Amino acid sequence: MLEKVLIANRGEIALRILRACKELGIKTVAVHSTADRELMHLGLADETVCIGPAPANLSYLNIPAIISAAELTGATAIHPGYGFLAENADFAEQVEKSGFAFIGPKAETIRLMGDKVSAKDAMKLAKVPTVPGSDGPLPEDEETALRIGREVGYPVIIKAAGGGGGRGMRVVHKEEDLIEAAKQTRAEAAAWFSNPMVYLEKYLTNPRHVEVQVISDGQGQAIHLGDRDCSLQRRHQKVLEEAPAPFIDEQARKDVFAACVKACIDIGYRGAGTFEFLYENGRFYFIEMNTRVQVEHPVSEMVTGIDIVKEMLSIAAGNKLSYTQDDVVITGHALECRINAEDPKTFIPSPGLVKHFHAPGGNGVRVDSHLYSGYKVPSNYDSLIGKLITWGATRDEAMARMRNALDEIVVDGIKTNIPLHRDLTRDEGFCEGGVNIHYLEHKLAADKH
Ligand code: ADP
Repeated sequence: MLEKVLIANRGEIALRILRACKELGIKTVAVHSTADRELMHLGLADETVCIGPAPANLSYLNIPAIISAAELTGATAIHPGYGFLAENADFAEQVEKSGFAFIGPKAETIRLMGDKVSAKDAMKLAKVPTVPGSDGPLPEDEETALRIGREVGYPVIIKAAGGGGGRGMRVVHKEEDLIEAAKQTRAEAAAWFSNPMVYLEKYLTNPRHVEVQVISDGQGQAIHLGDRDCSLQRRHQKVLEEAPAPFIDEQARKDVFAACVKACIDIGYRGAGTFEFLYENGRFYFIEMNTRVQVEHPVSEMVTGIDIVKEMLSIAAGNKLSYTQDDVVITGHALECRINAEDPKTFIPSPGLVKHFHAPGGNGVRVDSHLYSGYKVPSNYDSLIGKLITWGATRDEAMARMRNALDEIVVDGIKTNIPLHRDLTRDEGFCEGGVNIHYLEHKLAADKH
């Protein structure tokens, strides 16, 4: 097993990784910015290192500072969590060149899958179904671009090859708007992702977002841990997730699982990863792969009983997968509410002092959060302050437990989106299951009137 892991992240995921390390008897190094001295996991780590000031580009994105901290403390491996440097191939490369294990895929895999155009190409080769589109970047030549748009058929969506976090996408409904939309998306992509390349896809009108969790050891073995439905989104950002995805065609599901596992083996994938798909009319269409642990990984853990983070640590230590596909049995249903420090109506971030925090409990309730009474949520980072996860033998039982948990939880002093989740878990359409990616935004718009 690994000896000492440096956790290059903050908040709930840093705590999640720390807990997994402690369970396995691995020593931990927690790094933090000057704005994060009060983070809960710092008090639980074996060592802590301040890596820079509050702005993320000077601390959590500061590669030399993180590598120096690893050297200084004698860490043997680095876990990047999600966000920040988790999908930065240069970081993975420098970590390994400096003699540490990177807890994730090889840099070349991150590079391949981080560019959505090359990722789609790789998936097509592995026979994973993709969204029809431009087969490569959308050319700047206007004639060719217009021809591609016509062939794919409107509406289309223009997406940044290097995009992420739901940004750098533009839907185009008619041919007249294509060239201008492509120009704007290219400019945004250059500014946000330092890569102006865009591609074009058929815009699916009423899909669901269904993704497949995989773990692969990079030594020829790969398994899937079933699917998750993340269709409840606002501005292409996930709000509430569940596993398994309700009402999926069983044959399509079997086929997509097999394709994902094969793709992992084909590309020599190492670690945990997620294949994201849109699901419409009984068919899956690949959109992208995330080469890291995801925010919503706990719902898969709850229905499989497999600890994804512990398995990531084991694989990074050079071990083979501890499970075969036959060991993976999906039992019951799990839901996850992302708790954000934000106004539940305007979604404006609401950092500040948490005067009182009370965590819910009971059968099948899991709270992944770094909150405690007296903690001050800094304004510098993402507004996610915790995740509320419930498991039930059935979806209805998981939902009832989630409603209870949302009634019990107390976060005083700052605004949170808990009222939104209370509302959603009582929403008729969502409770029935299988809503599409527009459902939440339509509901929010309707509630305004
Ligand atoms: P990001 O990496 O920024 O998260 P994704 O490619 O994963 O971007 O897409 C995020 C979300 O945008 C999807 O879950 C879906 O809601 C929407 N989306 C992306 N591509 C399409 C498409 N071709 N048709 C319809 N919706 C799409």
